[in-house]
Amino acid sequence: MYITKTMKHKKTQQLDNLARASGRCYSKVVSLVRKTFKQKGFWLSESGVKKYIKNKGYLLHSQTIQACAESYFESLKSFFQVRKSNPDAKPPKRTPRYFKVRWKSSAIRLKDGQLMLSNGKGRAPVILENMQEKPKYVEMSFHRGHYHFGLVYKVDVPPKQETGITVSVDMGEIHPIVSFDGRRTTIYNGHFLRSIVRYRNKLKAQIQNAMDTCPKRSRKWYKLRKAKQRTLDKLDAQIKDAEHKITSRFISDCQRAKADTIVIGDLMHMRDNIKYSKKSNQKLHQWAFARIADKIKYKAELVGIKVVSVSEAYTSQTCPKCGHRKKPNNRNYHCNKCDFKYHRDGVGAINIHKKVSGVTNTPVSRDPGSPLGVKFNWHLSCLGLNPRKFAISG
Ligand SMILES: [Zn+2]
Repeated sequence: MYITKTMKHKKTQQLDNLARASGRCYSKVVSLVRKTFKQKGFWLSESGVKKYIKNKGYLLHSQTIQACAESYFESLKSFFQVRKSNPDAKPPKRTPRYFKVRWKSSAIRLKDGQLMLSNGKGRAPVILENMQEKPKYVEMSFHRGHYHFGLVYKVDVPPKQETGITVSVDMGEIHPIVSFDGRRTTIYNGHFLRSIVRYRNKLKAQIQNAMDTCPKRSRKWYKLRKAKQRTLDKLDAQIKDAEHKITSRFISDCQRAKADTIVIGDLMHMRDNIKYSKKSNQKLHQWAFARIADKIKYKAELVGIKVVSVSEAYTSQTCPKCGHRKKPNNRNYHCNKCDFKYHRDGVGAINIHKKVSGVTNTPVSRDPGSPLGVKFNWHLSCLGLNPRKFAISG
């Protein structure tokens, strides 16, 4: 399995030059392939193009040049795929000024904690400090005023265990994760995460509004754009950090519970208990769910826990005890058929769990107990080294 670590790097002349050279090289590939097709009616082969651009004097490592060709042929491949169902599809034609730069294994060297990314004989390598491990490959891209290095490492994954214990996850609008392990419900409190996401979206809209009212590309406009980038960068980093902390805590709880499977409600299905005022609002939530789900998936895989997904349909409004369907209308779920009462946030997780354990419409074997709350505590987590990142209550 591969994991990517990202590193932010300030803009330098050297990196600008590399991204520019990569842009030239990539654009050459694009125009060469497209021109040949237009004039001669066939698509050049990847190996042919690689041979052609090899010695064209781009100031990059030979493998980096090859990677430019690979990038284009990858998008060309997906164009061929799309064309099967859509005859109007157009082949990728963008010829960017700057393009991502990829260093492959043979261009990467680790020495005394310095990672040297070779740019070919006689040219200065890019040096990254404080590195312990040699990545499989490195990719540099540009985003919001900075270069970002994505360092891709190969990691060994422990074999999947078989314990028969399943933990279900319900991702809600209020709490990012509510889990059920067959006996107990745990709520991973999402108030903090929700408040930064809200603040971020509000701020973004405010700055965007201000930008729309002043002339485009004016001094004030640029100033606002910079402020927008800076605030979004900061808040996005905080959101990402909170999501990592919540999901890491969840996975370590799963390990402690000796779970071999995590089951997630399928995000493709619209949640049934939330009235969405706007479509965009819903999209925003789905995006947030997907990011949490991705983090759960890769972290689970790293510790040998299998992740499966099931349809989330009706899981939040079905009574876990008798199967009667009823929408909860306050903080507590109360079945008016069998009198089952439970905290509404836990109902979804219990039903998702039941879908996988195969028991449907039969009473819950044991009383699920009142939910256990895991609170995210920002101030403790800010200390970084403090292992008690979360205060447990409830
Ligand atoms: Zn019931």
